[in-house]
Amino acid sequence: MSSSKKLTSESTFLYQYPLEELSNEVKTLIERAKEASYQAYAPYSGFRVGAALLLDNGEILKANNQENVSFPVGMCAERILLGYAHANFPNAVPKKLAIAANRSADANSQATVSPCGMCRQTINEYENKFGQAIEIYMLGPNEQVFFAPGIDALLPLSLMISTHECFLSRQ
Ligand SMILES: [Zn+2]
Repeated sequence: MSSSKKLTSESTFLYQYPLEELSNEVKTLIERAKEASYQAYAPYSGFRVGAALLLDNGEILKANNQENVSFPVGMCAERILLGYAHANFPNAVPKKLAIAANRSADANSQATVSPCGMCRQTINEYENKFGQAIEIYMLGPNEQVFFAPGIDALLPLSLMISTHECFLSRQ
């Protein structure tokens, strides 16, 4: 094992901000995510997630989770949103993604949520396609916002398929 190397990522971290300190643009995006969460279809878990995406053309799109009686069929808000965005605006670059969740329609029941593994991989896909990081804002309780400057912060050493390079070459 003398030739082994420890491969690490230094990009895994989050910032935490009070909502009030963020820009009006981000506050608006988070508000859209909250609105979307109230309209989520989550009759089985009661866990409603909303997501809002700002594109570089100024468009703000939103979506929410859609559950199914056959549980694996259900889809996360983030994947529905990113798929819709790319289906309808294939040349628009996703810039900022906001996510909010609650366990009831009560505005005070804000839950902390971060994207699941499949959604992280989906975000990674569109970052790679456009060659630009997508800022991710996750609203938590007490008007606190967790911020990741890009998917690297949530998905270090992510999957890349290449015969000529490995993830280390991205750094
Ligand atoms: Zn997900």
